[in-house]
Amino acid sequence: MSDIIHLLPDTVANQIAAGEVIQRPASVIKELVENSIDAGSTEIQIIIKDAGRTLIQVIDNGKGMSETDARLCFERHATSKIKSADDLFSLQTMGFRGEALASIGAIAQVELKTKRKEDEIGTLIEMSGGNVEKQESIMCPNGTNFAIKNIFYNVPARRKFLKSNTTEFTHIEKEFFRIVLVNPSISFELIHNNEVCYKLKSCNVKERIVSLFGKGINSQLLSINADSSIVQISGFVGGPETAKKQNSKQYFFVNGRYMRHPYFHKAVMQAFDRMIQPNTSPDYFIYFTIDPSSIDVNIHPTKTEIKFESEQAIWPIVMACVKEALGKFNVTPAIDFESPETINFPYKTHSTEILDTPLIKVDPTYNPFASEKCSYKRSDSKTNWEQLYNGFEKQSGLTPFETDDSLFSETIKRNEFDFTSAEDQFQEEKEAEQLDLNMGKDENKAIYFQYKSKYIFTTTKSGLTCIDQHRAHERVLFDQYMQCINNESGVSQKLLFPEMLELLESESLVLKELLDDLNYLGFEIEPFGKNTYAINGTPSDLKPSAIKDYLLEIINEAKLENKDLRDELKRKMALSLAKTTAITVGQRLTQEEMMELVCNLFSCNNPSFTEENKKIISTIENEEIEKRFK
Ligand code: ADP
Ligand code: MG
Repeated sequence: MSDIIHLLPDTVANQIAAGEVIQRPASVIKELVENSIDAGSTEIQIIIKDAGRTLIQVIDNGKGMSETDARLCFERHATSKIKSADDLFSLQTMGFRGEALASIGAIAQVELKTKRKEDEIGTLIEMSGGNVEKQESIMCPNGTNFAIKNIFYNVPARRKFLKSNTTEFTHIEKEFFRIVLVNPSISFELIHNNEVCYKLKSCNVKERIVSLFGKGINSQLLSINADSSIVQISGFVGGPETAKKQNSKQYFFVNGRYMRHPYFHKAVMQAFDRMIQPNTSPDYFIYFTIDPSSIDVNIHPTKTEIKFESEQAIWPIVMACVKEALGKFNVTPAIDFESPETINFPYKTHSTEILDTPLIKVDPTYNPFASEKCSYKRSDSKTNWEQLYNGFEKQSGLTPFETDDSLFSETIKRNEFDFTSAEDQFQEEKEAEQLDLNMGKDENKAIYFQYKSKYIFTTTKSGLTCIDQHRAHERVLFDQYMQCINNESGVSQKLLFPEMLELLESESLVLKELLDDLNYLGFEIEPFGKNTYAINGTPSDLKPSAIKDYLLEIINEAKLENKDLRDELKRKMALSLAKTTAITVGQRLTQEEMMELVCNLFSCNNPSFTEENKKIISTIENEEIEKRFK
């Protein structure tokens, strides 16, 4: 049998390697722009078409390449950045593996024009699928101009995996931010489909942050600084009041490179401890400078996690310098969100005046089941609690039950019901009777009572039914919102003062696509200058304070969604709105409100479960109740 092992041709090997380095247009931009930075450029222009699908062009004014280098740069392991493995430990450049251009050349059509300052004439090279198609001398400006066309044209399987243009553009913008935030002295321009998205002049870090995220962020940035023998830290954090649920801008950089660092993130969060609401997080832009030999550089080109030798020692430095910044600007915890009972109310220290203890008026005879016919006298003594059942039984038609593990009976013992007004009781009971939701005739009249401001108890034919008020409302609202979207018929409530929403280019692209559906849900949103929108109206149940969070959540969701999933997105829009606007735990409900909610719930197609399959209703069967008394 003949030998069967053979070496893969370079073109195939490069295509395979490309799979690791180049996942999408954003990765091409990252690699090309990093090369431009390494080449000492001061101006870098990025031009893309169709979110990079058809064209990615990066033009720089860096040192350019000689004719030979221009040819060599597409070879695998062709790099000018290291000569030996030792060089890895003092690496100051972005690239070093010499893989990027070989990979890009293997999966796209590439045109390179480059010229060094010292040369009269430049070089043009055209590549296609890893083969040089053309090489000639041309007149061109100093610097390098790469045009990458039709990415993955020869790897259909990969091309198929590209997401919608909006999603791909979002990835590009993300990479762009990560690069430009740590290279403020370089001017950048990003042009998409002939439109200038970002034009950034050479400036300092703070100005760069502001030029990306808008003037609004300027006054919120607190500068941080730490200088120790192991690390230097500089940058900015947003004040606690700017902490958000969505879209916090969180950036760590080390030695001019973006990194993710969950461990240091915790250090920042620790510094903000108790100054911000749970589930929110602050903006931060934190720059580390450290001896390159103390971080692990042998990272994968697409990975952004970086390992530090002395992480444990750096953690408290990060924490302390953020804390110091917060302290310096007199930002101290205003409210202790965890334990509201510790809030101190102002009191007079110099006055001898004795303040009266506020009187809480309690009607000790108050009982929702009481009427002239039956009045239950509340007593704190446990021995009298059975009396409650007497009235209970007569009035509500419920059979009393008792069990040690039953929260319900526990509560009756402790008189912890959220009783609605006793006067209304009779009237409401009558209404409930008319409604006769419970189907079972007289002895099963509907009465609602709220338990722990969380559950609604009522009787149904099969027994005693407990309904989770928040989930029930979420189900009802979800169905309504879906109907609005599908029938294109939302009701809007005008806002007294329009809310302004300032977005990134990518977010603005997404929002434009969502405008119709948002409109059907009841939003009135109007463009107000570049990437800014005025929200003039919202669905009627949405609190003004929740508007931005909701919209940003939906935009984020949509950014990463595939274009084919519009229906799924509609569902998410309705669901998220229902979750935001549904009554919460702790909200007291009147008999009328409970009745309306339960009625609406039972007219839903699936009253038993929420859209996320959470249980809404639980019934204690009649037999079960009977059993307890055997
Ligand atoms: P690496 O960046 O890891 O060295 P690349 O494949 O990205 O590998 O680039 C190969 C080489 O091509 C670089 O080392 C550099 O010498 C040269 N090169 C690439 N882009 C540019 C550019 N924009 N200007 C000057 N030289 C460049
Ligand atoms: Mg490179």
